[in-house]
Amino acid sequence: MAVKTKQEEIIFRSRLPDIYIPKHLPLHTYCFEDLPKFRSQACLINGATDEIYTFEQVELTARRVASGLNKVGVQQGDTIMILLPNSPEFVFAFLGASFRGAISTMANPYFTSAEVIKQAKASNAKLIITQGCYVEKVRDYACENGVKVVCIDSAPEGCLHFSELTEADEREMPDVEISPDDVVALPYSSGTTGLPKGVMLTHKGLVTSVAQQVDGENPNFYIHNQVMMCVLPLFHIYSLNSILLCGLRAGTTILIMQKFDIIPFLELIQKYKVTTGPFVPPIVLAIAKSPEVDKYDLSSVKTVMSGAAPLGKELEDAVRTKFPKAKLGQGYGMTEAGPVLAMCSAFAKDPFEVKSGGCGSVVRNAEMKIVDPETGSSLPRNQPGEICIRGDQIMKGYLDDPEATKATIDEDGWLHTGDVGYIDEDDELFIVDRLKELIKYKGFQVAPAELEALLLAHSDISDAAVVPMKDDAAGEVPVAFVVKSKDSNITEDEIKEYIKKQVIFYKRINRVFFVDAIPKSPSGKILRKDLRARLAAGVPK
Ligand code: AMP
Repeated sequence: MAVKTKQEEIIFRSRLPDIYIPKHLPLHTYCFEDLPKFRSQACLINGATDEIYTFEQVELTARRVASGLNKVGVQQGDTIMILLPNSPEFVFAFLGASFRGAISTMANPYFTSAEVIKQAKASNAKLIITQGCYVEKVRDYACENGVKVVCIDSAPEGCLHFSELTEADEREMPDVEISPDDVVALPYSSGTTGLPKGVMLTHKGLVTSVAQQVDGENPNFYIHNQVMMCVLPLFHIYSLNSILLCGLRAGTTILIMQKFDIIPFLELIQKYKVTTGPFVPPIVLAIAKSPEVDKYDLSSVKTVMSGAAPLGKELEDAVRTKFPKAKLGQGYGMTEAGPVLAMCSAFAKDPFEVKSGGCGSVVRNAEMKIVDPETGSSLPRNQPGEICIRGDQIMKGYLDDPEATKATIDEDGWLHTGDVGYIDEDDELFIVDRLKELIKYKGFQVAPAELEALLLAHSDISDAAVVPMKDDAAGEVPVAFVVKSKDSNITEDEIKEYIKKQVIFYKRINRVFFVDAIPKSPSGKILRKDLRARLAAGVPK
């Protein structure tokens, strides 16, 4: 649906009608609102151990963790860091913090120590929940800064054990008054430019986002009595929101898998008769390519959704043959947008045709416009421009960074995504390009500014720029254009090794191209488009 407003802006809305959203509720209250209906139903299945937790157990454990957090000194408004792979403990920690009125910042447990500490410091985390094998990454920092460390398995000396939280008495938890604008989740994202920043997602924002996907007569993907595969990392907002929170709200069983590995993944789908698969393109690729797939009965799968990065048409067609009974569609998200901007409707009463390459239509109770990046004016259907979104689901802003917030959310409340797309005559959104710097490796964010800062810190490098290069397996990989310092003989391998030591695997530099100068605008901005064009044209000079 497109309407012209007073200012003659062309605004697109969902074809589904708006719904009532209880934005006044804290996130946990909203997610468990229908608990009486699902009480004894399986809520979480730990795919590694076959342990099952009912909705009632999950809710109770979360309240106990809240009480335990309170007991160990976590106050309302404090931040805790969850440094865990997918596990039931991740779920209990996140929900427990929400009940406590605290904020969770989630970090990839494979981050290097420097990367974890950077986030712990920036978010001012008071407590870190992790696993014994990751404690070394944070031990010194935690000791020096009075940060408590809680381990979900064997707790090394000086750490608390997670059971101290789960075994706390929920009745000792004081009442907390949570305002809808209080922050509950703090994922990190580089957004359209610069270094990773804390994205403040509020109770109201996440309640709105989950409702847009789940509530009303026309839920998109989530219905009661389904089994949803949770293999995407819960530390990314896509999984946290669209799998965990939506699943809890809808009464869906969530099957937790710690890490993607094709055989155990197929075994779990068959064993637990998984119905819903929220995936990312690299997983879709693995399913499409693996000969093992044909050995398993995957007929229980009714819906497959891909998001976080573009899914090509060939891949879409290839995977469709593996799940003949399933509806396949895409969703489009961005951490700052809460994260879901658009998704296809699989279970709507009158499901729209899912168009190949499309990302569905804008979520309900929200507005979308496509703007000309040069003039800022909104564009009609079928004309590509920058995708902008407005609604209660978007972030409150970046933590301690009003400048970056202002550059992303304009004064009329529009969040500028830095993605280029168009909306067709059937309200379907198609993403065609990216204006922003961001690189996506298998759906993971790589911020060029982070790698450029590391490169520039090397005495043999006088200037550098990092841009994405297309890659069949990863979608994109970071590559660097480097200007050597005078008289330096540094090699490509030396630079790669230097970066490798400091970053998680997916931020490693794939290629280094030595150049005489980095192209820049008169104001000193790297002309990334020029560098990307050089890559597209073949071997760069
Ligand atoms: P993140 O904040 O990590 O979720 O990354 C958000 C970015 O991922 C978006 O701004 C897009 O550039 C990209 N992205 C997410 N979903 C899609 C999709 N379905 N198709 C193309 N790009 C996508």
